[in-house]
Amino acid sequence: GTASQQSNAADNIKVVVRVRPMTSAELERGEANILTIPEDARSVDVVVPGPRGATMSRNFAFHACLPPSITQPDVFARIGVRQLLEATIAGYACTVLAYGQTGSGKTFTMSGREEVIDREQYQGDEDNDGLITRSMIYLFTRIGQLQGINFVLRTSYLEIYNEQIFDLLAADTPSQSPLPVRWEARRGFFVQGLTQVECRNLEDVFNVVRQGTHNRRVGSHEMNKDSSRSHSVMTCHVESTTSKDGQTITKYGKVSFVDLAGSERLKQSKSAGGTQLKETGSINRSLFALGKVISALGEAKGSVDNVYIPYRDSKLTKLLMDSLGGSSLALMIATCSPAQGYVEETLSTLYYATSAK
Ligand code: ADP
Ligand code: MG
Repeated sequence: GTASQQSNAADNIKVVVRVRPMTSAELERGEANILTIPEDARSVDVVVPGPRGATMSRNFAFHACLPPSITQPDVFARIGVRQLLEATIAGYACTVLAYGQTGSGKTFTMSGREEVIDREQYQGDEDNDGLITRSMIYLFTRIGQLQGINFVLRTSYLEIYNEQIFDLLAADTPSQSPLPVRWEARRGFFVQGLTQVECRNLEDVFNVVRQGTHNRRVGSHEMNKDSSRSHSVMTCHVESTTSKDGQTITKYGKVSFVDLAGSERLKQSKSAGGTQLKETGSINRSLFALGKVISALGEAKGSVDNVYIPYRDSKLTKLLMDSLGGSSLALMIATCSPAQGYVEETLSTLYYATSAK
């Protein structure tokens, strides 16, 4: 596309920061709190080590910053998820990404309490459910209100581990055979053989969320996968059909919820202007590629030149190609611990998130 299309694309990425409460372990260690969010909730102040043992404060600005006290319903309400879901209904491809170090609250933000979801009788967890379930409930409410449009919702849930894709909805036990990514002119990149479950009601949604969560948990425990290294992607495809004057119009929208691998998998090196992603032996390829795609989209913004966006460098960025850039909407939630002991990881997360704005 042209540079102006790409600069629009970059504006379509919103970045918010969520600071979780101290865990009991952090409280027991007597960790100092290094993160405060000013009244306007548009930035976060970080206490960082200064020269000769002194401390200094640094401020990072974002679209929104959510304090530890925020509830799960308020997270959904405050960060513009509804706008993104309306775009999905209208036929756009959208993404919600959770980025942050292991233990910072990515899964809590996206899914809620995994141990509650991974129960046979899971029927939603009103207070704790994360963005996935709340978004699905919102989609069902909206399509129920829209007269004269016929909707079909289909969901898929996958995990990327070591650049291999595993279907989390294949059966009630985790699938051991990876699925290939293919490309077709009409569809773009897609996962061949991935299960798609039609959801007709919330009951179906709860089953999909429960099964995906279950398979992810069992997969990491029993198959000795380090869950901090995997990305999970839950996608809801929204197909809408309207008939007018004997003509049928079908639109295909989709929204993907991505719970990324722990950001400690990504090494960054400091440069004069900030930090740069650096290739290291232990790099997580999809996380590294996502960082490059996001910063390329950021560079494209305000640039008159065409900026190359390296979508093809990893499985994750291939699958998100139509949901990042172009006319799509993306929302990145950078999750942080407030504890002083993680200051390096937190700064690294805030730099990464800043490059995505
Ligand atoms: P991650 O997925 O980034 O590794 P988790 O979402 O698993 O981190 O969070 C680590 C722990 O902290 C979990 O026990 C989770 O329930 C808890 N937690 C995370 N964020 C919050 C929050 N905002 N409020 C309460 N508990 C949280
Ligand atoms: Mg997690």
